[in-house]
Amino acid sequence: MNSIAVYCSSSDIIHQDYFQSAKELGKAMAQNNYQLVYGGGMVGLMGEVAKSVKYNGGQTLGVVPKALNIDNVVNDIDDELIVTDGMRERKAIMDERADAFIGLAGGFGTFEEMFEVLTLKQLGYHNKPIIFLNIRGYYNHLLAMFEHIYSEGFAKEQYRVLYHVSESVDDALEYLKSYQPPNLPDKWFI
Ligand code: AMP
Repeated sequence: MNSIAVYCSSSDIIHQDYFQSAKELGKAMAQNNYQLVYGGGMVGLMGEVAKSVKYNGGQTLGVVPKALNIDNVVNDIDDELIVTDGMRERKAIMDERADAFIGLAGGFGTFEEMFEVLTLKQLGYHNKPIIFLNIRGYYNHLLAMFEHIYSEGFAKEQYRVLYHVSESVDDALEYLKSYQPPNLPDKWFI
């Protein structure tokens, strides 16, 4: 495993704990030789993770749609920057270039990215690790919603293995190191 896509917030007005975790994650990635694949922004947690990876001697790949390739939004520290026509192509490149996916806390953009890789894994398009980094219990409500999805019969309970929930950066890295792609059942209830 060489590269990790980190999906995370573009907001700067969130609790310091999130920035602390972003910094820690970036450092751990650099120390373990994982390239960062990310949205290429200098804002919010994205900027923080990328800065930390670079500060600690690691490699970054930013993938940014041309509409967001503007001063004070796009980062200028990346080893490689790919500018795409739109958001869909950008996500496809991020998915392709990453061997694993980590959702640090974020808003709609982060959720969309995480849901896409979950859905693709559910359908067997890939079998890469997906981690929710649950800082400050940020994902607790979403995880409760996932349980509701299972109990209402909208997904098989075996799909809990699609994702892993880490309460710390160390746990996330441990999970990645020992990851065994699961044998997933068919999606359909028939
Ligand atoms: P959000 O969680 O809504 O802040 O969106 C963050 C996610 O959407 C990131 O993982 C990025 O891939 C993408 N994104 C949103 N805003 C930007 C931005 N200004 N620059 C680059 N990527 C962004």
